Amino acid sequence: MPLVCTVDVEDWAQSTLDTAMPISDRAGPNMERVLDVLAEENVQATCFVLGKFAEKFPDTVRRIAAEGHEVASHGYGHVDVFQMSPTQFREDIRRSKDQLETLTGVGVKGYRAPDFSIVKESLWALDVLAEEGFIYDASINPAVLARFGVPGFPSQPVRMPVSGGLTLVELPVATLRVMGRHLPVAGGGYHRLLPYSLIRWVIERTVLAEEVFMAYCHPYEFDPDEFKHLKFPLPLKTRLHQGLGRRGFENKFRQMLRQFETTLAATVAEKALDAAPSFSELLKS
Ligand SMILES: [Zn+2]
Repeated sequence: MPLVCTVDVEDWAQSTLDTAMPISDRAGPNMERVLDVLAEENVQATCFVLGKFAEKFPDTVRRIAAEGHEVASHGYGHVDVFQMSPTQFREDIRRSKDQLETLTGVGVKGYRAPDFSIVKESLWALDVLAEEGFIYDASINPAVLARFGVPGFPSQPVRMPVSGGLTLVELPVATLRVMGRHLPVAGGGYHRLLPYSLIRWVIERTVLAEEVFMAYCHPYEFDPDEFKHLKFPLPLKTRLHQGLGRRGFENKFRQMLRQFETTLAATVAEKALDAAPSFSELLKS
């Protein structure tokens, strides 16, 4: 099974520090850089685009679609799902989906929540996604060490029974299973800090087991100089946690893309609609 390369298209400060901040000027050029790398490596990715990013950089979103990548939704404002009411969540995803479809002329099939914030308390969001016409969600992180997640959730595609007889496919983030526990390995800080040999080993192990490896990254991880240009002070801890490993990131990313076959999240989801186990079957087994 292939690697699914996903990009959460957003701005570092707005998504990580304060959702009330404006999208920075670097976010668009950073995503253009990612698109250049993907073109050079001849790889198509699934891009979960934030609504506020699309408002500021509509041409970049059109380029994502024009170059054959999948445009999916990362919601509008990057507010964690469990901080919203179901009504607010519905408004957020509807606004984002309409906006992206208007920009690109292509239907949006998938969603990823900010910070993987579909957790046990916000699983109701899956019903809302299905009702709003999404066919898959990619927001659940089964890893035990994740800031948010659903520890113990399967790390492979599953069909989720949702209200009204609808079906939604869940495409969880990849994990490394060690003694029954899921360890985080799918991207972001882990790919910035882990040596490439280890990342390659984990992906190889996953694809050889005929499983999907759902990887993720962010445009700002390709920007090692961002913190030199910040107009506000940043605590050292944040600087290290968020900045370390950015310089070597692009090289690891390219190696990963050269080594593994890739596919789009929507392609995996469409196959999983017929073939993946349902969540209730998994509970019984
Ligand atoms: Zn995000």
